[in-house]
Amino acid sequence: MLNNNWLQNVALGPLTSFGVPAQARYFTRLEQEDELPILLQEADHKDLPVLMLGGGSNMLFTEDFPGLVIQIALTGISVRPDPEAADKVLITAAAGENWHALVEFCLNNQLVGLENLALIPGSTGAAPVQNIGAYGVELADVLEHVRYFDRRTQQVQQLGVAECDLSYRDSIFKHELKDRAVILSVCLRLSKNACPQLSYPTLQHALSGIANPSARDVFDAVCAIRRSKLPDPRVLGNAGSFFRNPLVSISQWQALLLSWPDLPSYASDSPDMRKLPAAWLIEKAGWKGMRLGDAGVHTEQALVLVNHGQATGQQLLALAHQVARSVKVLFNITLEPEVNILPAKAWQGQ
Ligand SMILES: Cc1cc2nc3c(=O)[nH]c(=O)nc-3n(C[C@H](O)[C@H](O)[C@H](O)COP(=O)(O)OP(=O)(O)OC[C@H]3O[C@@H](n4cnc5c(N)ncnc54)[C@H](O)[C@@H]3O)c2cc1C
Repeated sequence: MLNNNWLQNVALGPLTSFGVPAQARYFTRLEQEDELPILLQEADHKDLPVLMLGGGSNMLFTEDFPGLVIQIALTGISVRPDPEAADKVLITAAAGENWHALVEFCLNNQLVGLENLALIPGSTGAAPVQNIGAYGVELADVLEHVRYFDRRTQQVQQLGVAECDLSYRDSIFKHELKDRAVILSVCLRLSKNACPQLSYPTLQHALSGIANPSARDVFDAVCAIRRSKLPDPRVLGNAGSFFRNPLVSISQWQALLLSWPDLPSYASDSPDMRKLPAAWLIEKAGWKGMRLGDAGVHTEQALVLVNHGQATGQQLLALAHQVARSVKVLFNITLEPEVNILPAKAWQGQ
């Protein structure tokens, strides 16, 4: 018998920012934490694969999903003093809370720390999965802990920030806890009176006319920059940066500089590796603004693949493979997707 709250053959296009056609065999929304164990048991009983869906802003479906999609719709935000620091507070937000709304909530309550992460689409629960980051700040800078339901132990667990293994667009939730942890809530440590983070050059430039920029100034500048550079998924389907910025060894970077003296690069978390902007590599490979049918590379930001209207997941995947192949041929660099491609084997298959 089918659970009363499960819908069948649900279109996923409207639930994802790429908007490509795909269906979930079964779909339900999780509004109460205590309903989760039963839902998962029912899916296991029917031998169905399960997929957690937040705002769908980091996913590309290349075929129908043959199991149960659970859209995380848990809500609630609470604020309490930080017992360890008088000038800090701890904010706990349920996984289904919209991320940008949480950023605005904090700003409106004079809490500093999230303003650089304004306008990142999606849910709070997905934020630790790829350690979201923008304009010089990443979730790791403000995260206190993550609460999740462990499908293996059937227990609710808590991981402190250090245990989440957060690094550039990566976390334990993409590795050991992949398909195992359902994130229920996220706890952040924010400051009542810290200065905002202004290290990112584009942000510094945008705020150069303001003597002591406030968190509100940073928020406004970040929103303005993002609106001018990134396509709005409601107008042009996309999932933000399609590829991660590649890390190369110092010797490979130095060899590349001989052929490409204007190659930009950044320090990475490791002193042995240099981070290169994938957008620059893709642009040099001639892909900026190109399209194959309705699957395209954005005209302003080459790292963003876009759906001009009727693209399928397969077409976007084929375009991504062609872009990656060109970059490999020209620079001998392997691009890896930042977007979650479903099924994952579709990317490795080429
Ligand atoms: C225009 C645009 C701009 C973007 N800019 C940025 C940016 O600046 N920086 C950045 O880091 N990202 C950016 N992104 C990517 C995206 O917004 C983030 O990755 C975001 O955190 C995804 O949230 P979501 O709720 O939409 O996740 P989804 O796409 O629904 O899911 C993403 C992954 O998380 C898993 N997941 C979701 N919720 C849970 C949960 N509760 N428990 C366990 N797993 C879960 C899913 O199964 C999937 O693997 C951008 C995307 C777009 C469209």
